[in-house]
Order: sequence, then C-alpha cells, then structure tokens
Amino acid sequence: MDAGGGTLMLIVCAEQALVEAELVAGLLACPSCRATLGPWGYARERVTRRVSGDWRWRPRRARCRGCAGTHVLLAELCLLRRQDGVEVIGAAIEAHVAGEGHRPIAARLGVPAGTVRGWLRRFDRRAGLIRAHFTRCAVALDPELGAVLPAASDVADALEAVAVAARAWVLRFGPGPVWWIVSRLSAGGLLFGNTSCLATTAW
Ligand SMILES: [Zn+2]
Repeated sequence: MDAGGGTLMLIVCAEQALVEAELVAGLLACPSCRATLGPWGYARERVTRRVSGDWRWRPRRARCRGCAGTHVLLAELCLLRRQDGVEVIGAAIEAHVAGEGHRPIAARLGVPAGTVRGWLRRFDRRAGLIRAHFTRCAVALDPELGAVLPAASDVADALEAVAVAARAWVLRFGPGPVWWIVSRLSAGGLLFGNTSCLATTAW
C-alpha cells in the first residue's frame, strides 16, 4: 500500500460518495498540518480482498492547501500495505489470541498460510506498542474510562486495548464495524509503521 513519492495516507470513510462530498466541500483536514485538503486526482486502482469478495477501486488523492503535501485517501476497511480488508485481518488476530494456529485460520479465511503468519507475527511483535496506542486512544475518547485490566498475555492485552478503544469510539460517535474503527484509530498503521506513525493519529 505504498503510494510512493513521499505521499501520505489518510484513512477515510468507506463510502466513496461521502468522501467526495467532504473533499469538495473542504471538510477534510491535512493529517500533517490540519489545513484544508482539496481534490488532486486519483491513485492507481487497487484490489482489496474482503469477506464479501474482491473490491476494485481507485482511492482519491488530495492536496493540502496549506503545506501542499499530497495524500491518498484510503478507505477505513483497509490497512497500510495490506491487500486484505481489515475485517479479515482482524478475524485472524481474534482467532490467534483465542489460541488457534495460523494454518487453520488461513484455511477458514481462504488466505495463504504465509500471509496470515505474517500478520500474526507483526501483531505479536507490536503488541506492546498496539496496547499503548489504543489505551491512549480509549482514554482520549472517554476520559471517564477506568484502568484496562491485564489479560492473559501481551497479545491478549493488546487485543483488549483495541476492543476498549473501539467501544469508546462507538459510545462517542455511534456504531460501526469494530475493525474499521481500528483502522481509523491506527491511521491504517495497525501492522505497519513506526511508533511516531501510530502516535500522530488524528481522527
Ligand atoms: Zn498540510
């Protein structure tokens, strides 16, 4: 999911007509400087593998009227550098934390075993970072939130923090698919990017 040329990604609503209306109306803000984004053509076509089948689409590009940076508007059902939809990756993570191996998960989801193993290894390696980031998100969304209790393992702690943050989002903004919310809260960087990438999330 690399746009190349130093272009940044911005996670937006999966409803393309709504994104278009927001972009034209100047309602989308630059993730770098918070100035207004304007339309700037389209990125190349991509295929996102979803539970419901392949989705072919061309993400919108936008240019900042403040810093002149360009951004690819990535639908919230995606993650950076991942061809599979976030709900598919999320289902694999949930099964993994529940103790299922990567091969049966892959067979059930219809994804190559090596691909699933790659997601799960990244989630495992980033568990502490993910837990910290989503705990911060949860507290930012709901300052009344109590402590997130430790679970059985680092990966279970990370998934619990993800779930708590998604619940806090729903309480504040209304219902939505949990893993789409996770994509938004991580700026698409659940499985990719460095700590500063995750830390600069804006929603
Ligand atoms: Zn800008």
